[in-house]
Amino acid sequence: MTSNAPRTDGTDGTDAPAYRLATRCVVPPKPEYKDQYGSSQIPVYLTSTFKGNAEFDYTRCGNPTRSALQSHLSQLQECRHTFAVSSGMAAMDIIARFARPGDRVIAGDDLYGGTHRLLVLLKNNCDITTDNIHMADAAVFESHVKKCAAEQAAGGPRVSLVLLESPTNPLLKVCDVQKYARLVHENLPDALVVMDNTMMSPYLMRPLDLGVDITYDSATKYLSGHHDLMAGVIACNRDDLAERIYFFIISVGNALSPMDAFMLLRGIKTLSVRMERQQKTALAVASFLDRLGFRVHYPGLPSNPGYAIHARQARGPGAVLSFETGNSDMSQRVVSAARLFGVTVSFGCVNSLISMPCQMSHASIDARTRAERGLPENLIRLCIGIEDPADVLADIRQALLAAGAVQEVDGELQRVPVEDEMEVLRAQLREKAGAECATAAGATEASAPESLVVSAPGKVILFGEHAVVHGVTAIAAATALRCYARVSPAEGRVSISMRDIDLAQSWDLEELPWHLVEGRTEAPATLDTGLVEALSAIVSRTESPGRRHAACLSFLYLYMSIGGPRAQDFEVRSALPISAGLGSSAAVMTCIASLVLYTHGRIALPHESITREQTSVINGWAFLAEKIMHGEPSGVDNTVAVLGGALAFTRAVEGANSLKENRLVPLRGFGALRLLITDTRVERDTKALVASVSEQKQREPERVGAAFEAIQMVADDAQTLLAEPPARDEFVARLGKLMVLNHLQLVQLGVGHTALEQVRSTCAAQPYGLSTKLTGGGGGGCAITLIRDGITEDATAALRTQLSDGGFVTYETSIGGGGVGVRKDDAPLPDSTDTLGAWADQGTWVYA
Ligand code: PLP
Repeated sequence: MTSNAPRTDGTDGTDAPAYRLATRCVVPPKPEYKDQYGSSQIPVYLTSTFKGNAEFDYTRCGNPTRSALQSHLSQLQECRHTFAVSSGMAAMDIIARFARPGDRVIAGDDLYGGTHRLLVLLKNNCDITTDNIHMADAAVFESHVKKCAAEQAAGGPRVSLVLLESPTNPLLKVCDVQKYARLVHENLPDALVVMDNTMMSPYLMRPLDLGVDITYDSATKYLSGHHDLMAGVIACNRDDLAERIYFFIISVGNALSPMDAFMLLRGIKTLSVRMERQQKTALAVASFLDRLGFRVHYPGLPSNPGYAIHARQARGPGAVLSFETGNSDMSQRVVSAARLFGVTVSFGCVNSLISMPCQMSHASIDARTRAERGLPENLIRLCIGIEDPADVLADIRQALLAAGAVQEVDGELQRVPVEDEMEVLRAQLREKAGAECATAAGATEASAPESLVVSAPGKVILFGEHAVVHGVTAIAAATALRCYARVSPAEGRVSISMRDIDLAQSWDLEELPWHLVEGRTEAPATLDTGLVEALSAIVSRTESPGRRHAACLSFLYLYMSIGGPRAQDFEVRSALPISAGLGSSAAVMTCIASLVLYTHGRIALPHESITREQTSVINGWAFLAEKIMHGEPSGVDNTVAVLGGALAFTRAVEGANSLKENRLVPLRGFGALRLLITDTRVERDTKALVASVSEQKQREPERVGAAFEAIQMVADDAQTLLAEPPARDEFVARLGKLMVLNHLQLVQLGVGHTALEQVRSTCAAQPYGLSTKLTGGGGGGCAITLIRDGITEDATAALRTQLSDGGFVTYETSIGGGGVGVRKDDAPLPDSTDTLGAWADQGTWVYA
């Protein structure tokens, strides 16, 4: 602290007895601030300048009345430093000055509106961005903090502030302050944990004791208690932070005026009696409303999800609560009928107040956003004052009766049932979004079936694996091995079963974070990381990290983002081997996206074929799901799963090609080609293989460059062949040669394997004479063998037996067929995987 800065601590060097909290509210700490005439109250020093005083010279930097207030507050909070400024927002503004341009702030998604406005200003003016996350969920908070820490370590933005509020206003959501502060300090040691303690006041909660670095209050509320002044209070224990806060305050010039400091000192003296009385009545009101069956938000009710955490970290539940009547008009009538309650914003006053946040404090947020954030339009907020509790309760009772929210039956009050407006509004929003999209995509009500079967193909890479990473063209084709999925109506829950990976999970519709989504047709360009985190936390309750977790996460992401809370059972079966590099995840997610799009009426059921418009919608979602599962996918797998046929894909790589963005060229119409896929079952680490090729390229640019050039030539020839196929025999023979050429180049790059060579020589030997290459990552994994048209079924069967005797698993398929398909008639998926393979030939299917 600078030498002439006035004291901000409560330790005055005297042997003052350690009083209890209520006493500390009323007893001033600093006898030396008593004036020369021994006035029993701190005088108001209404002066801007001081002559020849060592401690004070100019009121912007220090004033005895303000210093007395600050010392009193430090004594009250048992902390080292307190600063008084001109409002709660002024306090937040000072704290925000710890963030520098380019920094990142973590805050809740339902934080006080004024704080939100300030953070938006910081984003627009100072490039300080805020992540608004679902703070009440500890798992979401933890994973977000860890993600930010990882990004920061990798050169991403520095997290400078983490802003906490508990309970929040007006939904009274609670977070575990001690746990959150510890998490931040462990993972983001540079970040300051800041708490807005306005709803509790230092009387009920002491965030600094819970590990928070800086706490602040809008002293306009409980600390003053009378709605007769504006003030903000900042407190901390660290001297270095105090020094900077003081510097910010004198630089900005928003310290509290002497008159307001005097008024606030007076208010604080009654804080304990006010707070005790107010929260006692609040608990009685909350219990009364709860007994009547209203949905009440108050951390003092044992039914509240934050009850236990709040009880641990605070001395009481406070005096703000909110409740839902279910209907806005009814809530409006309740508010109008209340006589004792003042209808106004703010809280913390000695008088009881009533308001409808959506029409007052949160009116600047549009209704749709409010609904998305789970803020009920009909929410009524009550801020309980110090009136006689019986009068407060009687007034609520009469207001509910007058509004028709309750009725008296045999001398007992009973709630009058209403249709929950929040549910209706959510349904309307979904319907509206659906109708807009459905019109655009040609969907009608009638086209939204309840049960549906779809399928999508897997893929093989025919040419260009590994080299594709470095800007060479790769060619991928759809396999006739497909994934199948069916959806049917359910009750109360949504479920997914994927027998091939032993997955069977279901979720109660109520437990899903619907406020984070708005059902839509078109996939957004980027993933909603907040939603991913929220869903990941939910999935983590039952699945540990791994492919089942990833599958549930992507499934829920698609189901919720496209659809809406409809109870449905999804069943997925795969004729494709899973985790064999054959695009099974993209095929599954293409199926899920299509099922949700069709059954929620987002797009119309196809008649003859699935249109280009629809495939683009489905592909957008399948790509997002791939992003969840694989981080940075190329888009090849999902595009093949949706469009079928084959495609040439070239990644834009600076220095390697002249492309500004990745290029995907669909190749269709070359007729089905028969292929044998052999899974060597040799485990490989694709990432390590990719890294080794890159490393070789660095070490031996000429050799590897020449290999890439050769592969590019192969891919170009193959692209021409597939786009304009010559006579069938020649077509197959040339394609086979290109496969071998490509394989040899891949071996040169060190991604071959003896097991792959064994497959190659078995297939090349007489009487087969077939061309084989590795497909995908290599180093084991799968090989593909092109089967000439003339080869008999018996010969193929013999070859398969020979390969399986060698310990390999084979799949016969064709490539180049249809993409995503919809079955026109509903049918349960077959029980056995053997029959599943041929299922595409049963029933009537419509394909992309
Ligand atoms: N924090 C919370 C939780 C608030 O409710 C308010 C005001 O309503 C503020 C901060 C801002 O305080 P002030 O109005 O004193 O600037």
